[in-house]
Amino acid sequence: MSPPSAVSPALQRVLAGDYGVDDLAGLLADGDPERDAALFAAANQVRAEHVGDSVHLRGLVEFSNHCGRTCQYCGLRAANKALQRYRMQPDEIVEAGLRAAALGYGTVVLQSGEDAWYRAEVIAGIVQRIKAQADVAVTLCLGERPREDYALWREAGADRYLLRIETSNRELYAQLHPGMSFDHRLACLGALRELDYQVGSGVLVGLPGQTLEMLARDLLFLRDLPADMVGLGPFIPHPGTPLAQAEAGRVPTVLRMVALTRLLLPDSHVVATTALGSADPLGREKALQAGANVMMPNVTPRAFRALYEIYPDKICTDEEPEHCRGCMAARIASLGRTIATGHGDAPRWLHSQRH
Ligand code: SF4
Repeated sequence: MSPPSAVSPALQRVLAGDYGVDDLAGLLADGDPERDAALFAAANQVRAEHVGDSVHLRGLVEFSNHCGRTCQYCGLRAANKALQRYRMQPDEIVEAGLRAAALGYGTVVLQSGEDAWYRAEVIAGIVQRIKAQADVAVTLCLGERPREDYALWREAGADRYLLRIETSNRELYAQLHPGMSFDHRLACLGALRELDYQVGSGVLVGLPGQTLEMLARDLLFLRDLPADMVGLGPFIPHPGTPLAQAEAGRVPTVLRMVALTRLLLPDSHVVATTALGSADPLGREKALQAGANVMMPNVTPRAFRALYEIYPDKICTDEEPEHCRGCMAARIASLGRTIATGHGDAPRWLHSQRH
């Protein structure tokens, strides 16, 4: 590609594929609107060339907010006793998945806290029933589970798995995830890759103690995984967590991460996350113009939606799924983009299947 004018030497090196951590960290820094504009323009161009103008919509079913973990930043953490908990029954989950398919979404994402109440066979049955009744891809986002569970679900027809790293810095990971192991997280990601899932991951931007260099290394981590899909959201402090008083992550930094992810992983999907839309009313549109090509409309039944409170003041908690569909379509059309059809497999993964 020919770089847009006003590209900095660091951006030139990124575009040439010959960059280092310092280049990425420099491009993530505040204070240079022209440099940002060139970065976003370059990412937008690479996005158009590699994954096109259409935006993939993934219907998200948040089916349980029970979680056995205590991630320091998350409102679903087991220690947050103020949260009213819910679990959807398998029939309800299948119904919500089929509703997503009926709305035209090519992918159904089934997400929960780490909730051992759902045995592996139960999840496999849900996946099988959705796949048998609708022409959709199924993505699972259920956290760390034994390799046998991942294998069973893959056999049942699950196509993709989302397992966010949140930070690739070992020390910061350990601080934020009591009782969890960074190495085990890596092992889970490795198992998913070996089982030939399309693997999604992501990073929380603006975590307390996180530096620009750490974020630059997160980008390298995602590139080297390699991630088929990447979600990047700002850290938003939740009042029911130990990080309630911490400063929130900043939207411009997230957008720079979105743009650099697109440049480092041109054939992967990059999400315009709901968290970005919660931090800035136009956050998702800005991300779509900085390299993103996926949105995740919520199809969780309204009765449960507000209770899936990973972070506070989440948007889209009071709308019916049909309303979300219309809202997303209008936002996408306002940018001159179209809604994608089909399952929306990641081009990077499709290429890997051919070799
Ligand atoms: S981030 Fe995930 S695993 Fe951690 S507490 Fe929240 S829902 Fe549970």
